[in-house]
Amino acid sequence: MTVPDLLLNSGHKIPQLGFGVFKIDPAETADAVIEALRVGYRHIDTAQMYRNEIEVGEGVRASGLDRSEVYLTSKLNNGFHRPDDARRAFDGTLEALGSDYVDLFLIHWPLPTLYDGDFVSTWLTLEEFYRQGRARSIGVSNFQVSHLRRLVQEGEVVPAVNQIEVHPYLCNEEVRATNAELGIVTEAWSPLAKGRFLQDPTVGAIASRLGRTPAQVTLRWHIQRGDVIFPKSTTPARIRENLQIFDFELEPEDIAAISALDRGEAGRTGPNPDVFARIPR
Ligand code: NAD
Repeated sequence: MTVPDLLLNSGHKIPQLGFGVFKIDPAETADAVIEALRVGYRHIDTAQMYRNEIEVGEGVRASGLDRSEVYLTSKLNNGFHRPDDARRAFDGTLEALGSDYVDLFLIHWPLPTLYDGDFVSTWLTLEEFYRQGRARSIGVSNFQVSHLRRLVQEGEVVPAVNQIEVHPYLCNEEVRATNAELGIVTEAWSPLAKGRFLQDPTVGAIASRLGRTPAQVTLRWHIQRGDVIFPKSTTPARIRENLQIFDFELEPEDIAAISALDRGEAGRTGPNPDVFARIPR
């Protein structure tokens, strides 16, 4: 399966489908990454918060692929927003991954109720990593429209991506539209709504008609909307299944029917970024 690339505003390309490792136990992470790379994934999404960056690096090295063949993303943990902490934490990410650069580095959460609401100085620190070439691209995650507008006004570099919760029950159209307007690629996290969406009769009917699984139809919906996704699974058959989505297409009516399932805020499975303020220990 050939995964298409999308062009970021940094001039670098990102594979539109990757492999997410949130909540994969560190003890299982290297094997999951090796399996994903073996079957054809070339993009891994991790974070300092996931506590498995070391094992992601181990998996990449054990795969036999060259570092340059694998797109690696990590994210700044919530406790490290102050510039000096961010610099130390970023050094820690490179050390854990065993690489002298990361393809993409994100502010994980805006935390507008912490740090006196200052996520701009954190962003200016990520701009340093970008200028040094140690982060090939930089971006944000869970940024709402007002947060994006402030960054674009007060920063020098426009984020390459905004990684936000998007799936058929939370289409998140307002943030997606702002991303598009500003030249920011949307990355859709929890693309399968953590598995909750897979019993939905609308997607079930489309899947039966096409001879595909509900997960494949849902992932294909994201791809045709133009977002980057990285579904997570530790089951080898599902890891393969989630990659087999580039040999069929949904009709415009299918896309519209799935998009009509949007429940807005009620469909959110994760925290609301406007109030989320947790600093993991
Ligand atoms: P997901 O929507 O990818 O769902 C994962 C769950 O769906 C799995 O645990 C599994 O139970 C099920 N599943 C996966 N493939 C399946 C298949 N083919 N058939 C049936 N069930 C299947 O949820 P996620 O792990 O929360 O999100 C994916 C990635 O997004 C994460 O690993 C992480 O990289 C990223 N993420 C980012 C943030 C953020 O704040 N930036 C938050 C959550 C997740």
